[in-house]
Amino acid sequence: MSTHDVYKPSVYQEPGPPLDRENPFESMMRRFDVAAQILNLEPGIYEFLKTPTKIVITAVPVIMDDGSLKVFEGYRVIHSDILGPSKGGIRYAPDVTLDEVKALAAWMTWKCAIMDIPFGGAKGAVRCDPSKMSPGEIERLTRRYTANLIDVFGPDTDIPAPDLNTNEQIMAWIMDTYSMHARRTVTAVVTGKPLVLGGSRGRREATGRGVMTVTLAAMEKLGLRAHQSRVAVQGFGNVGSVSALLLHQQGCKIVAISDITGGYYNEAGIDIPAAIEYVRQHRTLEGFTGGDRITNEELLTLDVDVLIPAAREDQITPSIAQRMQARLIVEGANGPTTAKADPILNEKGVMVVPDILANAGGVTVSYFEWVQDRQGYFWSEERVNRRLNRAMRNAFEKVFHTAQRYNVSLRIGAYILAVDKVATTLKLRGIYA
Ligand code: GLU
Repeated sequence: MSTHDVYKPSVYQEPGPPLDRENPFESMMRRFDVAAQILNLEPGIYEFLKTPTKIVITAVPVIMDDGSLKVFEGYRVIHSDILGPSKGGIRYAPDVTLDEVKALAAWMTWKCAIMDIPFGGAKGAVRCDPSKMSPGEIERLTRRYTANLIDVFGPDTDIPAPDLNTNEQIMAWIMDTYSMHARRTVTAVVTGKPLVLGGSRGRREATGRGVMTVTLAAMEKLGLRAHQSRVAVQGFGNVGSVSALLLHQQGCKIVAISDITGGYYNEAGIDIPAAIEYVRQHRTLEGFTGGDRITNEELLTLDVDVLIPAAREDQITPSIAQRMQARLIVEGANGPTTAKADPILNEKGVMVVPDILANAGGVTVSYFEWVQDRQGYFWSEERVNRRLNRAMRNAFEKVFHTAQRYNVSLRIGAYILAVDKVATTLKLRGIYA
């Protein structure tokens, strides 16, 4: 079987046009500023931590199947390498912007700091629409993007991973391209690889599993029981579908799910395994009969206990926040809540488990994968899941206590924890002049 047979474009996760898009970097900075103020960060350190270490913008020429030449724009932003080699996924999306990649790179820095992972933060992207490209075109795009970044990527320097619209097969091509240049197989240069190529058991499900763990931890704090909880999940890609499945297995009633084709609501609970099987066969939920059609907006404002936005940025806007009924939001996606919606949710007493904690399960198992690759010794799924579970629980408790100590939201608590750790490390390392 050729690699082309294996490749299936992942389901495009965006549920529709963003309702009220904020500049994602400014959104990140607004939360960072609050934490910096509380921590009384020195101006120089503040300046250092907000400025990305390196930004690469690169032209990615691809010969298309019809023989024509197309040039795509590729990015890699390294926000910080203070805690270690930078780490972060690569997304393929037609509307991706440099500011979005900068925000996502910074979020990776904070995520790794919260999880006590010895990595800095980075993110990459190529502005393209993979749903309109053939597997061969995507392979050529991936290999050329990797070749252009050959001096940036490396197991000790910068380690990519999957993100929106990229998957195990794409990671395999990155690993192979890098290895061809290095003249030896370097598995630890990228994570989220297929198992046979040095991937980790449990990596694919890791983000959703982490979402499940922190959802249960947050529910305990609120006195919510899994068996009595109604949950809505926005987005049915890797994160949304696995979160929905695992919470369903824990006894939660998943009353609504959605993907790019819209929302599906079932008062009695959606049959999540059936929905996953449906998407496996049809690529999207279009035509799924296990629930009544609802809009994206209706899903976000449903009368549920828990809302899990697992699609894309800027979904919970001030207007949605005002009408939202959930008591708990667990951010499976990166940046799903706009900075302007934060105060409204705080005012309403909604608990928000922020992205930089809630979806950190992915990078945590990426770290496990990198460790296994470097040791050449591979763990059982049970060991991966146990360690992931423990890491997520510990991180949740740390964030919860920081938030209590400073009397702030979990989001600001998470930023305080992360910014403090990176700032302390920076001060100890000092500035090389
Ligand atoms: N793309 C994922 C994230 O946003 C995973 C990154 C990684 O594993 O390096 O957290």
